[in-house]
Amino acid sequence: MNEFHYTSYAQEVIFGPGSLARLSEAIDRFGGRRVMLCSSGSLRRDGSIAAIESALGERLVAIYERTQSHVPDFQVAEALELAEQHEVDALIGMGGGSPLGLAKAVSFALEEKRGEVAIPTTSSLAQPLVPIVAIPTTYAGSEMTPVYGVTREVDGVARKLTVTNAKITPKLVIYDPVLTLGLSPSLTASTGINALAHCIEALYSITRNPLSTAAALNGIRSIMHALPRCYSAGDDLEARTEMLAGAFLAGTALAHVTMALHHGLCHILGGTAGVPHGIANSIMLPHAMRFNLDATAPQLLGAAQAMGIPLADRSVETAVEEAVQHIYDMVGQMNLPQHLQDVGVQEADLPRLAQLAFQSRTVQSNPKPITDAAQIEEVLRAAW
Ligand code: NAD
Repeated sequence: MNEFHYTSYAQEVIFGPGSLARLSEAIDRFGGRRVMLCSSGSLRRDGSIAAIESALGERLVAIYERTQSHVPDFQVAEALELAEQHEVDALIGMGGGSPLGLAKAVSFALEEKRGEVAIPTTSSLAQPLVPIVAIPTTYAGSEMTPVYGVTREVDGVARKLTVTNAKITPKLVIYDPVLTLGLSPSLTASTGINALAHCIEALYSITRNPLSTAAALNGIRSIMHALPRCYSAGDDLEARTEMLAGAFLAGTALAHVTMALHHGLCHILGGTAGVPHGIANSIMLPHAMRFNLDATAPQLLGAAQAMGIPLADRSVETAVEEAVQHIYDMVGQMNLPQHLQDVGVQEADLPRLAQLAFQSRTVQSNPKPITDAAQIEEVLRAAW
């Protein structure tokens, strides 16, 4: 890591139990007068959407509250139409990665429609026309990143296509652990493993830097300490707070580096095979780590140590293998599926999924070069 290229994004992050109460004054500071909320049904049912309605009053001019997982493109069109009808000047994404992704997609589409000044889209200094406020209620991490994914049919196959642009990085993030108290054990566990996966792939990322590594190691410590407690006692506010801080660190690491084989595979499994994102992460993470182990053991030793696994007088590879097994066991202890065949993936589809993954830019950024789709198929077979 003698050389690195680090991009930071201007973001305000408000973290702490009860911090949702600070939304109204933060929106005023941002100058939002006509705000639209993107969310999903569970947040209506648990009263979180009602809390936003009462906090913002007339400033909340539209709500799109039926976001589906993996953000199908027809929903982007519907939400965009609503945003245009109401001439919104700010968007809130509240919920898991999907409503946050929808808010990003709408902001980006409005940018394209309303934009008059040509701003180089690659500049990390570019400011959005319609800024995003993110209120995450899972541990998926999208609130910190300049990326969104939308699922659409390409050549008859459903694909999750991602867009990366500094402008869609949420400007304000409100992390309120109280909003996560009702997250089911299964969503807690699976989106928590997604956060862990961000840390793991940040550690061996080909674009890692000292800050992403520091965030990832501290994220692993918090997640490994807090996630089992959140799983077994969802109403433990202290554990929920530590876990959300871990997700913040994981999202921070994710935002600043390139992901690799694991994330590329999870995108294919989600977009094309319909596997929920957290579940795909839970099944694939140990297998992707094992595939990369011989090339990344020195980077992953820190992860093992952050999990409380000492090097002792063993080889680095042996200690990291213990960490991989520990993650696999933890996934099982939290009653998450551990095989692709348990979540509807057909064995006959594995070669096609491997081919699609082989074309993925994220997969091609893997620290251990992947030169043949057969290598990916082997990883998928091990997970099947
Ligand atoms: P999700 O947003 O699809 O939500 C899954 C389920 O959780 C939904 O049914 C939702 O209603 C429910 N839910 C959310 N919060 C809840 C709460 N507090 N209580 C009860 N139920 C709640 O799933 P996710 O795993 O959060 O996000 C996955 C999506 O985000 C994928 O599309 C993935 O590609 C994307 N993602 C993007 C990034 C990025 O950087 N852009 C990062 C991570 C994930």
